[in-house]
Order: sequence, then structure tokens, then C-alpha cells
Amino acid sequence: MTSPIHCGRFAPSPTGPLHAGSLLAAFASWLFAHHQGGRWLLRVEDVDPPRTVPGAAQSQLDLLHYLGLQPDGPVLWQSRRSDVYQHALDALLASGRAFACHCSRSELAASGGIHHQCVARQARPDPAIRLRVAPGSVVTFDDALRGPQRQDVHADVGDFVLRRADGCWAYQLAVVVDDAAQGITDVVRGADLLDSTARQILLQRALGLPTPRYAHLPLLLAGDGRKLSKSEAAPTVDGGDPMAVLRQLWRLLGQPAAALAGASTQADLLQRAAAAFDRTRVPLHDISSRQAHSGP
Ligand code: GLU
Repeated sequence: MTSPIHCGRFAPSPTGPLHAGSLLAAFASWLFAHHQGGRWLLRVEDVDPPRTVPGAAQSQLDLLHYLGLQPDGPVLWQSRRSDVYQHALDALLASGRAFACHCSRSELAASGGIHHQCVARQARPDPAIRLRVAPGSVVTFDDALRGPQRQDVHADVGDFVLRRADGCWAYQLAVVVDDAAQGITDVVRGADLLDSTARQILLQRALGLPTPRYAHLPLLLAGDGRKLSKSEAAPTVDGGDPMAVLRQLWRLLGQPAAALAGASTQADLLQRAAAAFDRTRVPLHDISSRQAHSGP
């Protein structure tokens, strides 16, 4: 049997314009996939209406298009997939893996925000639904960039939310269902999501879904060392030349500028980048967006 072809994805939340850190994840996931001769897909993670900014998804997609990062299939919009998430939730409820939780915020605060058992004094009309995480739920996985990882999900996270009390689908459930639905074999994303991965693996196991490989990229910090905020628009893309933006992202990923030096068109540049990409050069420490302007 041949192993499934590499399928990567970029899955932005439309909470504002893409910042340079998100573009780094977009380009890196594209490079991982294209270097392997694989596919790359897009997903709009618009399951959180209170945080969704009207028009942001389209401008994110436009920007990716402008950079020449074309998906190899239709874009998946999470806001249109409630039925699929409900189906997964029903299966978990039926098997007893998920349960309705009536705890209030203050009741949860008493246990440091970690849920191990319901302590609600009264039933809520709008309970959250959580995944039951048994003691000893220790998840290990090999991050393609960072090596072996381990998390005791019971101790560190507890029973986690699948559908929120406000009725919104939790990121953890939607991402797991959709990575499987899109046939994703390789998740390449920012290190801020490293901590979510063990939860996602537990959920994949509970739903009988395959576990993709994971690679967590360094975080891109603002020039002054601050973490770029979600609402901070990419400093590199305000009408800039797309080839210059791609070259800058390439450098931030630790790749040699010389590999793209002779590229005359955007398509040529992307082709050279896909061929020359070397994941072992990707830095593991957080990187400053200043670094893009210095060095050979
Ligand atoms: N939607 C998430 C974000 O924008 C990314 C989810 C993922 O890559 O798993 O931070």
C-alpha cells in the first residue's frame, strides 16, 4: 500500500487581516506540501461569530491569491458545517465520551479553570458540551520540527469544551472534524497551537479519525519583541510587491536568499522555493520580524 499523498492546509480565523505571522504559517504549510509534491488546501475557521469580522475572510483569501498561494481544491467554510459537527457531537454523546456541563464560570474558577467533574449547584438552560478526559490521558506525538512532545491532558487541561454555552462550536471539535474531512496528512501551524495538539489527538481517537503529522513553526514577534496580535495587520503586505513579501517570508523561515535570487516571475519564484525548501533550516526559537531585513 502506498502512503497517502501529503495534504497540508492553512486555516485562518477571519478575526481581522492576516498578520505576518499568519502569512508565515500560510507559506510554510504551502512549502511543506509543495516540496513533497503534495496538495494544499484552505479552510476558513469562521465558527466564532462574535469574533468574526465581516469581510475579513475574503480579504485573507484575496491576499493569499495575490501572493500566488493557490489552494488545490475548494475552500471549506466552517460556518456552513454545523450539521457535520453536530453529527460528531451526537456520536460522542451517545458513547458517553461527551457530556453536558452546567458549571458556571465562577464554579470553574474554583478549580483553576480545569474541569474534572461538574460541581454546578443548578442546571443552566444552555450547558456547554465537554469531552470527558479520563485520568491517565497522556498523549505523546512527534512534532516534525520539535521532536517528541507529551501532555497529560487530564491534569493539564481537563474535560474540554466541544460546544460552548453560547452554542458556538469549539475550535477543537471543528478543527479535528475538518482536518479529517479534508484528508489532511500534515498540519503545519504556529507554535501557539502546540498546546492544542494533544487535545486534538484525543478527540481524533474518540471519533475514530486518523491523526495527521504535526509541525509547529516558530512564532513571529514584532520588531520590539512583542507577540504579534491577531489584529495586527501584516507589516509586509500593505500593497507591497508579492515577490518581495515571499522573499521576506522565505528568509524568516531560515531559507537561503540565494535560492530565489534568479527568479524572474512570481510563478518561477514559487517553483524554486518549493524545490529548495529545507525544513531542517526552519528556526525553532521565536523570530523577530526585524530579522527579515538583515543578513545575507
Ligand atoms: N484558525 C486558527 C488560527 O487562525 C488556526 C487553526 C489551526 O491551524 O489548527 O489561529
